[in-house]
Amino acid sequence: MPADDRPPNLAPVRRVRRWEWAGVGGLGVAMAVVLSLTAFGQSATDPDVRDDVPETSAANPYEDGRRAAVQPVLDEWARAVRAGDTAALPALFDAAADPGFLDAEIRRARSAAAVPFAEFGYDIGSDPETPVPPEVADRIGASDVWAPTVYLRYAIEGADDAATRKPVALLLARRGDAWTLVSDTAVAGSDRETWRGPWDFGPLMVREVPGSGGRSSIVLGHPEQSAMIEQLATEIGDAVDHVTDVWGEDWSRRAVVVVAGSRDEFASLVGDAHSGADIAAVAVSDAVDLGARTATGQRIVFSPDAAARLTDLTRVAVLRHELTHVAARPVTADGSPLWILEGYADYIGYRGVEATFGALAPTLSAAVSADGPPTSLPADADFRAGGDVARRAYEASWSLAAFVASEYGEQRLGTLYRDLAQGGSTPDRVDSRIRDALGEGAGELARSWGTWVDDQVR
Ligand SMILES: [Zn+2]
Repeated sequence: MPADDRPPNLAPVRRVRRWEWAGVGGLGVAMAVVLSLTAFGQSATDPDVRDDVPETSAANPYEDGRRAAVQPVLDEWARAVRAGDTAALPALFDAAADPGFLDAEIRRARSAAAVPFAEFGYDIGSDPETPVPPEVADRIGASDVWAPTVYLRYAIEGADDAATRKPVALLLARRGDAWTLVSDTAVAGSDRETWRGPWDFGPLMVREVPGSGGRSSIVLGHPEQSAMIEQLATEIGDAVDHVTDVWGEDWSRRAVVVVAGSRDEFASLVGDAHSGADIAAVAVSDAVDLGARTATGQRIVFSPDAAARLTDLTRVAVLRHELTHVAARPVTADGSPLWILEGYADYIGYRGVEATFGALAPTLSAAVSADGPPTSLPADADFRAGGDVARRAYEASWSLAAFVASEYGEQRLGTLYRDLAQGGSTPDRVDSRIRDALGEGAGELARSWGTWVDDQVR
């Protein structure tokens, strides 16, 4: 899939989200493809300044009246789900509500009650409402129907600095003065869809892992993935420390890790139609505020197949790799060269692992043996090509980062990352940033790295 491709049937584009995944293929190296997709992530860096929450749409008293009447219904809905108060739910649903909507919310409330939310609420957005087709309104037979843009706003206690927001394609009806919930599946003719979280996919098992300074990491998933959840909960503390050893302390030093129980859930959480069949894990986030150095909604999502396909070594490496993306995300602009983003994450992922160069970079090693060493830095397009081309791009990037760490030290590698992650990957800009960090340009770096790789493979 090309960069900047927009997944079908999502809410209106408002933010860009970068994400990537690591394959679960061969021995070791976390391989995969990196994409930039547009999605509906919303950055809410300051809880008081959220740009889709209307201050008030002053010019429309009719809509203001609807907002004022509907918000308390949304508040009670959120309260009941968050508290697992299933007895309070039926009164919120319309007589003409979609079959199964109430039952799904009851199941959701039972699952959500296991999650330590710091915030869980619904906001009415300022985007235009979705027109409700006359036949839908006729079927409901209410005195008013309304499909405003609604966002689920939530944060996890101890793990999220600020809330993330996800779209809800809600339809409500008014009978007399009372508004009730009719549907959260897309209104016909609308491209809005409701985001589904882990609590929409069955009972949850939640492991809270205390870190330093009141920070907690959270690992959650479904009981059938309990072994994987326990392993990750056991490993995440050391993985955070491992990433901090290289990156430094200027990151959140915690994460929310989700183990998806099904391919549908994985696709829902990573925002696209990817099934997870050949993917180990993905790091996702809302848009980044580079000025404030914040990224909301950061989640590491393991695919349902990861438990069976990762070894002890690769599971830890993938966790460290994704945590590196979490650590670096607030200072990483979209459009930065992928070789530094992925090479750095794989470098930290495999740092300290006792394995031969050939074991960690089998595809690259084979290519070097056949055709000689690389002569240029890995191209972004190669990461998206899939198959051996992408595998080679990842391995080459890992080896490039390992070369820089070995020749210049980890400190300079970190400087190189921060310089290159400012976005923009024109050859001139990349060349001057490499020169700033290392004192030599892209061409010299490629040549000295190629020689080093050749030595490693022989
Ligand atoms: Zn990655």
